[in-house]
Amino acid sequence: MAELEFFDEGALVSVLTTEPVGRAFDYRAPEGGCFLGAFVEVPLGPRRVLGVVWGAGEGGYDLAKVRPVTRVLDAAPMGEAMRAFLVRAADYTLTPMPAMLRLATRAPGLADPPGPRRVYRKGCSEPDRMTNARGRVLDVLDEYGGAAFTLGELAGLAGVSTSVVKGLVKQGAVAEEEAPRDLPYPALDPDLPGKALAVDQAEAAERLCEGIRAGRYGTTLLKGVTGSGKTEVYLEAVAECLRAGRQALVLLPEIALTAEFLTRVEARFGASPGEWHSGVTQTERRRLWRMAGEGGVGLVVGARSALFLPFRDLGLIVVDEEHDTSYKQENGALYNARDMAVLRASLCDAQVVLASATPCLESWANAEAGKYQRIDLTSRFGVAEMPDLSAIDMRAEKLEPSRWIGPTLAGAVRARIERGEQALLFLNRRGYAPVTICRACGHQIGCEHCDARMVEHRFLKRLVCHQCGETKPMPTACPSCKAEDRLAPVGPGVERLAEEVAARFPEARVAVLSSDLFGSARALKDKIAEIAGSGADIIIGTQLVAKGHNFPLLTLVGVIDADLGLQGSDLRAAERTFQLMRQVSGRAGRGDKPGEAMLQTYQRDHAVIRAILSGDEEAFWKAEAAEREAAGMPPYGRLAGIVLSSPDVQTVFDFGAELARRDAPLRRIGAQVFGPAPAPVARVRGRHRVRLLVKAAKGVALQPALAEWVAQFRVPNNLRLSIDIDPQSFY
Ligand code: ADP
Ligand code: ZN
Repeated sequence: MAELEFFDEGALVSVLTTEPVGRAFDYRAPEGGCFLGAFVEVPLGPRRVLGVVWGAGEGGYDLAKVRPVTRVLDAAPMGEAMRAFLVRAADYTLTPMPAMLRLATRAPGLADPPGPRRVYRKGCSEPDRMTNARGRVLDVLDEYGGAAFTLGELAGLAGVSTSVVKGLVKQGAVAEEEAPRDLPYPALDPDLPGKALAVDQAEAAERLCEGIRAGRYGTTLLKGVTGSGKTEVYLEAVAECLRAGRQALVLLPEIALTAEFLTRVEARFGASPGEWHSGVTQTERRRLWRMAGEGGVGLVVGARSALFLPFRDLGLIVVDEEHDTSYKQENGALYNARDMAVLRASLCDAQVVLASATPCLESWANAEAGKYQRIDLTSRFGVAEMPDLSAIDMRAEKLEPSRWIGPTLAGAVRARIERGEQALLFLNRRGYAPVTICRACGHQIGCEHCDARMVEHRFLKRLVCHQCGETKPMPTACPSCKAEDRLAPVGPGVERLAEEVAARFPEARVAVLSSDLFGSARALKDKIAEIAGSGADIIIGTQLVAKGHNFPLLTLVGVIDADLGLQGSDLRAAERTFQLMRQVSGRAGRGDKPGEAMLQTYQRDHAVIRAILSGDEEAFWKAEAAEREAAGMPPYGRLAGIVLSSPDVQTVFDFGAELARRDAPLRRIGAQVFGPAPAPVARVRGRHRVRLLVKAAKGVALQPALAEWVAQFRVPNNLRLSIDIDPQSFY
């Protein structure tokens, strides 16, 4: 790596801080000097804030007033490629630099002085007396296994005061240790023998390894049905990257998937990788952040934000399940981790592997255009085969009222139970019923703060707004006409489907997998392991089950309502339904028994349903691509979504109209503005929402034009404006 520029004591340096002040300020390098890219603490007004030395100072003002950097933090300086990445990502997503830097410094305690510090783990004694509060602390310790916590974090997670933890320390039930600070992670051994690869796997692995050895940027779409052995293939690329002495990052869309992945990494490399996601303790987060910068960790597995770790020398980024919508960060800095991975890799000579059974249209089109290399794994590894897919025409099925499982699907489920196999019923709706209606007056219970219906969650005995999270107890009387006991659920959610299943198959063991039913990632993980080990006959699941979990005994997938995603005007409705149905049906038959997937539909002639059934994916992508191209829609055109929100309805509409009217900077690049229009969810958390959509041709400089456009206006205080480049959701 290139030698870092150094600033001697007293030299003027420009420091970018994480504070929303808009620009970098000049300081003087502290005693001992500092490197370019150093993480520092600087005075800003009366406070001390975190920053990074971004370059030489500009000068040009009263130099006597320039204050010195308070101190240099104990962390490796941010490298040039990382700084370039943050700048480019900020330009692309129109995110202010301080917000970008916040993403890159999301590790607690960065500014703590070096030296050992106290951490807390599970002790070996029992407390003399158990209280509720003490029980909660011990639960947290159990839940995270042997993890170490800071005092504040442990107390916070348990919801108790720190004195409760200290009390447990006195009793020996919690161990207090002086932890040496932030040790490197155990080295992974890339030369342990991996699994013997099948021929197509070995070829795929070799092509990825060639890219790594070349030490240049490149992106590969690794496409293969679930179970085709993609993970084994990209683990070989990880091995090659480690051999080259560089770091690798594997992004997964869901924390619950990391456990299985960690086990596989240990088996392959003899040690665990660094983990980065919301279920990791702050102590570990901090350690990982620092080790990424120092090169003290070889492989990191994490959620999308791991992309902003300050890796010293990143050589490979794998984005597993690259089509997954959770890669798009939908609040704060709006970025798509898949696209940012490609950007980051291109700036540090790294390879990207996008792995999926059902890539997004963008990636498919990039491979078609030759921008990405594409590798297909066409068969499942070993004996496992793709399930047989069929549609059940619901117009011909006899359904009793408030029942959703037709006789055909019910018969297939019964056959599985009799054979001791598992069946999965898929319904992408959390809760008991999506609508609660008053039979006396027709009133539907809505959220007070949002333009959304409240969803009954019978398990919680509450109504929940899926927009803002607001909950209230289930009323007994209609809030509108006050009639008693006339409120009735309409439509199914997974909880209601579970009732139907219990009534029809009383002998079966039923498990419901819905993200809201589990208090923690660990609880969910345990449940998944239990199910995989034959702990249930019928699994009822939302979208959660589509994400790569492995259930070897599962041989039937029944999709309750294949039409659900096809409603609505979302640009990606067809693509999403196609992906989801294929992902879900791919759950069946991963063991040695063949699987079957049945789709209940009222529209069996719909193009998407037909494409799913025929399995002719390329035909589906081509048709979808042709439609988008004709309409100038992504990936053949560019979109930016503008969302305005305010407690005051007049303000948002007036401001929206102004934006639409003064669109000269956009017209100059040939872009069009649509709207303002009330957003599909027109009120969230009491704020009225208006959307505009900007549409431009591919290849124009959209972001600078957008920036110039909005810079013409002074945004009223009570109004929030957010710009979403390449919007994924249009709510
Ligand atoms: P994907 O990532 O495409 O879903 P995986 O890599 O998880 O596929 O492979 C599916 C299953 O097959 C896993 O249980 C994996 O351990 C097994 N498998 C894949 N390739 C091999 C191989 N070459 N030898 C032995 N088992 C393999
Ligand atoms: Zn709400």
